[in-house]
Amino acid sequence: MSPARNDGPSPPGARRLVGPVRPLHAATLLVAWEQGQREGPVERALTLLGQALPETPREVLAALTIGERDGLLLALRMGMFGPTAPCVVGCPRCDETLELELSLADFSLPPPVETESVIRFEGLGLGVRAPTSQDLLEVRRAGDATALAAALLARCARVTEGAEPGALVPAHAAEAVAAEMARLDPQAELRLELSCAACSIDFSTVFDVVAYLWQEVETAAQRLLLEVDLLARSYGWSEHDILALTPTRRRAYLRLTGMA
Ligand SMILES: [Zn+2]
Repeated sequence: MSPARNDGPSPPGARRLVGPVRPLHAATLLVAWEQGQREGPVERALTLLGQALPETPREVLAALTIGERDGLLLALRMGMFGPTAPCVVGCPRCDETLELELSLADFSLPPPVETESVIRFEGLGLGVRAPTSQDLLEVRRAGDATALAAALLARCARVTEGAEPGALVPAHAAEAVAAEMARLDPQAELRLELSCAACSIDFSTVFDVVAYLWQEVETAAQRLLLEVDLLARSYGWSEHDILALTPTRRRAYLRLTGMA
């Protein structure tokens, strides 16, 4: 039983239906890239996973919590581009540039045991569940950051006890609810704890796996399009045939043309 309202599809046991992610190959990478051009970050995440998990319906992916989704995206990224991720972060105090190499396996957590719970707050029982991509899509037009947070709170948390059941959670409970959401779904925010060698400040920043992977997919797509263009000009092959070649063969033919 879900104490919180949920308009979105939330098939029970969605996690069990999601299999191991398949790295995108040339053709599926270009499909995801093309579709993602028209999409925001939440939809892009689903589009990438849709190509990596072609048997899983999009609504099932959308019903995963953000942490579950990001766990799959981490696995996808590691399968496509390897386990380490070079990052550049600016120090918030002195603007020094920190270059680091993240070990993505360190971020991978087991799927959450429970994704909803009831907490006590000032005599109230509050039903809380971890937000999903569907929730984020539903609230994205709510307005500014404050309105968006309120809309998400209304979707994912409701009073269960101590007041009218189903009533909205009071605004001053938002922090407690957010803390419970983070506890339920710890992988939803991949936080880096950093220290600046130049000014000695300690700070933290969030690793956005969707934006990071999307940037890599864009770069890979641009390179693939260039390869298709060069090979099509040289050999007259179709895009379909060129994308069906293994990366090793594509590069070997490019070398033969003298263009790589
Ligand atoms: Zn600094």
